[in-house]
Amino acid sequence: MPDIDPIPLARLTTLRTGGVPERIIDAHSRDELVAALRGEWATGERWLALGGGSNLFVGDGEFDGTVVRILTTGIQRVPTAASGFVRLRIEAGHDWDALVAFAVAGGLAGIEGMSGIPGTVGAAPVQNVGAYGQEIEQTLVEVEILEESTGDVVVVPAADLGLGFRTSVFKAHYGSVAERPSVILSVTLELEHVGNAPRIVHDERLRMALGYAPGALATLGDVRERVLAMRRAKGMVLDASDPDTHSAGSFFQNAIVSPEFARTLPVECPRWPIRPDDVTETVIPLAEYDGVLPVRDTARAGSDVKISAGWLIEHAGLRKGFSLPRSRAALSTKHALALTNRGGASAAELAELARFVQRRVHAEFGLLLQPEPVLVDVEL
Ligand SMILES: Cc1cc2nc3c(=O)[nH]c(=O)nc-3n(C[C@H](O)[C@H](O)[C@H](O)COP(=O)(O)OP(=O)(O)OC[C@H]3O[C@@H](n4cnc5c(N)ncnc54)[C@H](O)[C@@H]3O)c2cc1C
Repeated sequence: MPDIDPIPLARLTTLRTGGVPERIIDAHSRDELVAALRGEWATGERWLALGGGSNLFVGDGEFDGTVVRILTTGIQRVPTAASGFVRLRIEAGHDWDALVAFAVAGGLAGIEGMSGIPGTVGAAPVQNVGAYGQEIEQTLVEVEILEESTGDVVVVPAADLGLGFRTSVFKAHYGSVAERPSVILSVTLELEHVGNAPRIVHDERLRMALGYAPGALATLGDVRERVLAMRRAKGMVLDASDPDTHSAGSFFQNAIVSPEFARTLPVECPRWPIRPDDVTETVIPLAEYDGVLPVRDTARAGSDVKISAGWLIEHAGLRKGFSLPRSRAALSTKHALALTNRGGASAAELAELARFVQRRVHAEFGLLLQPEPVLVDVEL
């Protein structure tokens, strides 16, 4: 088995925290990955699948188990019945942004808005990654998994993955375990072949998020460049020389609240309906208008609302760059939602800052922000 000498997880995670695990196995091929996982599961010991380490917050102590690092790569074109679409099967350890660059260069649309997200393809469905109005859910066909409960390789369609806002059946949310403990071996996406010529940015959420005017023309490459520039300005593209990127991305999730609770927040607080397509205007033709407005559809009226966690943090008095006295952890100077390691910060220092942010937001707005990264051996 391709064991490597254990090194601190602080060197394998973008938030740069984490102690030394008992064992690290580097799986470069699918056979190595499957054998390593089956071997670990047979022992009943603790294990952790590791991709790029960009969505993990790991405690400072020794990890008493085995870390299996997923280093498989490869993109394969597979048949599809959908005309005008191309289906790709990608190995789990493939770099996500390298996949996006590959798709954009080949004129394949559907993931260009997710340019610059760090990490691996196999981890992308785990929290249904998304940015600028696109989510992997929109192009995901199926995943091939190795399931811990049986040790079998199974292909699971996207509809059965419980995909939602930064969640799936594979994600271990803080305080709970994954619904379906498994390791993703490969991911199949279906992307539209639109070519490399300029075209109207049809995807309305992407167009608005990127600030294109209605009817504006752009190539997939233009969209990718615009996304990367916007992300760099917020410290959301990994850069070893920029401590604002030594983070796990957004540390807190945008909060999902009831419409009643949303009404208690200041009107300036940015918010979005969870199901934008449901929120339509009712148009009554004048000839049919009898002076009585129909009662609002209660199912629609009950749509939950997504609230900007970054806005809540800044309006709870915590400016970008904020840190506690003598702490080496700080909010990013570019983006209040990212907790960053300014150099040698321990997990305890980052957790202390995270708890402080939670307490301030709770005291100001009555809402407890939930962490987005997967927490391992660390408590908030
Ligand atoms: C600067 C920065 C910007 C970011 N921006 C975004 C963004 O815009 N949108 C967004 O959604 N996320 C964002 N993230 C979060 C992160 O990049 C994504 O969640 C990414 O998909 C994590 O991939 P990874 O390979 O690094 O996963 P890891 O951090 O290695 O793992 C994350 C979790 O997935 C599990 N896992 C890893 N690989 C597999 C696998 N093959 N099968 C099953 N489980 C697996 C791990 O055990 C762990 O629980 C950002 C992070 C950073 C640091």
